[in-house]
Amino acid sequence: MAKVSLLQCKEYSAFMLKEKMFQGLSAIGLEPSIFRGKKVIIKPNLLNASAAEKAVVTHPEFFRSVVQIVKSSGGTPVMAESPAFQSLSKVMNRTGYDRIVAEEGCEVADPKATAVLFCDGQGKYKRFELSKALFDADIVINLPKFKTHSLTYITGAVKNLFGFIYGLNKSQWHVRARTNEEFSSLLLDLYESLIKGFEKPKQFIHIMDAIVGLEGEGPGASGRPRRIGALLVSEDAVALDCVAVQLVGLQRNKARSVVLGEERGLGAGSLERIDIRGSMLDDFQVRDYVPSKSNGGHPVYRWPLNTNFFRNLILEKPVPTRERCTLCYQCKAICPGRAISESQGDTGVPLYNHEKCIRCYCCMEICPESAISLKRGKLQWVLDLTEKRRGDRF
Ligand code: SF4
Ligand code: SF4
Repeated sequence: MAKVSLLQCKEYSAFMLKEKMFQGLSAIGLEPSIFRGKKVIIKPNLLNASAAEKAVVTHPEFFRSVVQIVKSSGGTPVMAESPAFQSLSKVMNRTGYDRIVAEEGCEVADPKATAVLFCDGQGKYKRFELSKALFDADIVINLPKFKTHSLTYITGAVKNLFGFIYGLNKSQWHVRARTNEEFSSLLLDLYESLIKGFEKPKQFIHIMDAIVGLEGEGPGASGRPRRIGALLVSEDAVALDCVAVQLVGLQRNKARSVVLGEERGLGAGSLERIDIRGSMLDDFQVRDYVPSKSNGGHPVYRWPLNTNFFRNLILEKPVPTRERCTLCYQCKAICPGRAISESQGDTGVPLYNHEKCIRCYCCMEICPESAISLKRGKLQWVLDLTEKRRGDRF
């Protein structure tokens, strides 16, 4: 049975938050002493530069309480986050996080420093370029904000981990995985890599800010703040999201990362398999929480942006080089898109069909000769320009 602490918490006061967090950790068998001498990555949801009361970001006082718990327990907290479209410095300034990290002496990981995590799991995507800070951490504390989402129906613990991918690189993943089903699957590929892909596994703790959530057209400024009054804690991100969805009366079946996460054995996605500690679901009276009108059905990019033609313009394509290739065909064996076929004529290298290629880059990871390089898409300069403009001082 997965364990999820569900606690009533009505305000963002330091005293109340810390008391509830201690209770929540203890109820699932975790004592703060686990942080002693450990490097602890703290990952809030800083989607964009909006004030805390808009309920788009994890409340800054929620973040502060976790930092204080880690510090007072002898651990070293490091904040890691990378907003998709705005610079981290701008977002931290507007949300009040810059003041908190200064007051608490919390290090902020450079969002531009990344490293590759490869995990040969059951998913389609096995290779992720993620915040480098993650690789040096012992423990990861994930702080999702509970929100509705026009593509994935909800954004919770599983979705918040997507923020470990650097800035605009997130958009490229949206080009690869365009529907709720595809994108939720991709999120689970990432989740599987995080929990199984590190040589020395890291401990993941998810603490959800559902004190004030976001309903309607989330996850950004078009959504409406909605008081829920809950704080949830678990080591199982799928189970935590499952409880959160049903806490506010949304439909579990539409939260595809919950359903698929259970099917893939990555967590408990049904209440029968979850031991809820603290409060009962019935203690909460949120019965008319409003989902996004799309009900998780809006692809992020619409035609023509969601075509293979556009994908070829905006994403790097893998290209084998003749000089190094030994025709071992390990790339063909691992390719989930069946995009690689045997060399024909005198080309001397495998044939890549870039129309079929889903840009997972598993072939690059597996190639023993480093014979595959990346050729830039013709429109990638547009992303580079946007990247240059936003800057990042960390
Ligand atoms: S894995 Fe590398 S060396 Fe082997 S066939 Fe593919 S490109 Fe060539
Ligand atoms: S050819 Fe494309 S789909 Fe196949 S392994 Fe390489 S990147 Fe992935």
